[in-house]
Parts: sequence; C-alpha cells; structure tokens
Amino acid sequence: MRVVVVGGGVAGAASAIALRRIGAEVTVHEAHEEPAGPVGSFVSLAANGLRAVAVLGCLPRVREAGFAVPWQRMWSSAGRPLGEVARGRARADDMVSVTLMRADLVAALRAEAVRLGARIVTGSRLDAAHVRACLDGGVDLVVGADGIWSGVREVLDPLAPRPVYGAMFSVSGVSRADGLRVDAGTFNMIFARRGAFLHLGAPDGSVWWSAQVSGPRPADVHAVGLDDLLDIYRTEPRAVEILRATRRTHGATLHHVLARVPRHHGDRLVLVGDAAHPVGAGQGASMALEDAIALAQHLHAEGVQAEGAVGRALDGYERQRRARVDKMAKEATRNREVKTARPIARRMRNVIMPIVFPRVYEGATSWLHGHDPGALPA
Ligand SMILES: Cc1cc2nc3c(=O)[nH]c(=O)nc-3n(C[C@H](O)[C@H](O)[C@H](O)COP(=O)(O)OP(=O)(O)OC[C@H]3O[C@@H](n4cnc5c(N)ncnc54)[C@H](O)[C@@H]3O)c2cc1C
Repeated sequence: MRVVVVGGGVAGAASAIALRRIGAEVTVHEAHEEPAGPVGSFVSLAANGLRAVAVLGCLPRVREAGFAVPWQRMWSSAGRPLGEVARGRARADDMVSVTLMRADLVAALRAEAVRLGARIVTGSRLDAAHVRACLDGGVDLVVGADGIWSGVREVLDPLAPRPVYGAMFSVSGVSRADGLRVDAGTFNMIFARRGAFLHLGAPDGSVWWSAQVSGPRPADVHAVGLDDLLDIYRTEPRAVEILRATRRTHGATLHHVLARVPRHHGDRLVLVGDAAHPVGAGQGASMALEDAIALAQHLHAEGVQAEGAVGRALDGYERQRRARVDKMAKEATRNREVKTARPIARRMRNVIMPIVFPRVYEGATSWLHGHDPGALPA
C-alpha cells in the first residue's frame, strides 16, 4: 500500500510510524525544513498521549527530550490557590505528564519514522493540485496531517469550515528562575483578568511560561512586546514577577478555532490531528497521536489489498474517533470560556473552584486520560 502524508508535524510523523508498522510504503511531505517550522513553544502530553507515544515506540526518547510534570496548580489573579490536581492523569496513574518543546517531540517521532523506513521530504509543500495528482497517480491513500489551515481538508470538502480567530493570542518565553520560587514539576495556571498565565519550572532551573491573552479582536501579535504583557498582567503580581525575569520569548501566535468538520475522510483521503479537529486545551498533540494509531489499526484490520478495504477502514476510523474528538472539542470550548470569564463569573469561579475542582477533576476526566489506544504490529 502506497501512502502520501501531507504534513510532518506531530500527526504526520506519528501517522508515518503507525503506517510503517502495518507495512505501508510511506512518504511524508513537510513544508518546512526545520522540525518545528515556525510554530512552537512547548507542548504537554497527558497520560493518554503518552500511552499513544508508547505504542509508537517513542516513550523513552520523548521522556528524555522533556521533563515530568506530575502536578497542576490553579491560582486566582491575586495569587490565591484555587486547587491542585495530578496533571493530565489520575493520581494512581504512573504515566506522568511530560512537557517538551514541540520541535523536540516532532524530531523524536520523525527519527522513529525514518528508522522504520518512512521517507520524509522536508521543504516540500503539497497544494491541492499535488494532492489530486497523487490520487490520480495511483497512491492508495493521502493522509491530511497539515494542521488547522489544512489544504487537504478543502480538497476533501470545499465547503468545510475555515478557522476563525478564537478571541485569544499567546506569547511564550523562558525566564531566569533566581528567586522566583517556582516548584520544578508543577504546572501553574493563573486565571488572569485577561486570559491565563501558565508557568512551570524546568529541570535546568529556568521557568517556562505562556501568556494566553484574551481579546475580542486579533492583535498585531508581532508588535506585542514584554512591556505590553507587563501592562496586560499588571493585576497579577506573580505573572509580572516572572515576565520581568524573561531571558527570551518564542514569538506570539493568534489562537484560531474551527467549527466541527463534517467529513474526516473520502474514498482515499483522510484527515488526522489538527486538520480534522484542532482541540487545544493541552490535548492537541495527544489527540493527533491517538488518531494516527486508530487509522493504522483500521487499515490493518481490513487487510488493505481487498476490494473496497481502504474505504471501509476509513469509515471505521472516523466512526471510532468521532465521539471522542467531538467530546474533546466541547471540553476545549469550556476550557476557553473559563479563561475568558467576565468579572462576575470570575468571582464565582474563585469561590467554587477550590471546593469542587479537586474533588471532581479525576472522575470527570477519566474518559480522556484513561484512554487505551490498543496495539500495533511490532
Ligand atoms: C502555542 C501553542 C501551544 C500548544 N500547546 C499544546 C499543549 O500543551 N499540548 C498539546 O497537546 N498541544 C498543544 N498545542 C497544539 C499542538 O501543537 C497541535 O495541536 C498538535 O501538535 C497537532 O499537530 P498536527 O500535526 O495535527 O498539526 P501541526 O502541528 O500544525 O502540524 C502540521 C504540519 O503540516 C505542515 N504543512 C501544512 N501545510 C502543508 C502542506 N501544504 N504541505 C506540506 N506540509 C504542510 C506544517 O508545516 C506543519 O509542520 C499547542 C499549539 C500551539 C500553537
């Protein structure tokens, strides 16, 4: 079976591994020369994402490239603790969340894909005409792993929704830790007056942060500097302290959201990862990894040489993933709403969260973090 994967990010590289594991001949085309392209600060993998990484044979490499983050603490704007939970897992689960640079995750996955015999062509952007030429040229399957702005999605369905601004932008950076008292291995989220401020202690003693700023209209993110952030977070003393110690920033990104994509596959075309469902809420990479495994499992189960087998496998893939990614998208919307709450809702959140959140979090997220992705052939 000959497969062309468009996009060599998390979804594309993971698909290449999973498809090689079922014996497909895989070529990945990635627009950028570098593993991260222009995108990327740090990403977190929750227990479900790490279980997928383990199935793909990359767990030791991914753990080595990042660091363990067992705990998550929430804080009010004024610095009042709002609760502590095990980050992205049940307390008893030993799949402790890992945070790493997106580029390092992509590099680890690509290395395994290449080791298994996948071909990765960097600096190669495939447009709609290329995709149609692949299908006309006898490629058995085109996998659209080309992210939220997916061109493959438009080939599949010209009426598919397009991304719209998600009322938030983010800037990430690294600060000197001296005197900041940030516990290593704890992910901190401050619910700020405008959005959220995330920060965590890295093993080298630095503090990684991400400022997620809410705003009704898209800002000129390239013009946003540290002084602007210091002004935006002036009511959050902890954020100001960390921002003042900044050593470098990773550039700013506007957040976009995508309405539910009605079709994730055609006869020989399928979408994975953000191309199908950019979920956010710290689950984008984890969901992309799960997609890659599920796709390969369905193709393997159908025995792709048989007449109509690819179509049946893609039907099965979409049926299996739909309920989960739709539920995740709703979860992400709620997550965004908490970060962009208005003053009255913010006050209610600050009262209710410390009582309710630590008690319900584990039960409410067991469907997400406890997911078992199944296996792939060795
Ligand atoms: C600031 C930020 C923070 C994030 N934090 C988290 C987090 O904490 N946890 C988490 O799980 N996720 C996080 N995410 C999301 C996460 O990075 C993605 O959701 C996840 O990696 C899914 O990846 P993907 O491969 O589907 O898409 P992408 O990562 O967007 O990759 C798509 C790839 O396709 C390539 N491409 C696009 N078009 C073409 C084309 N025509 N031809 C060839 N190549 C093409 C692009 O260059 C890119 O490399 C974050 C994202 C951002 C921007």
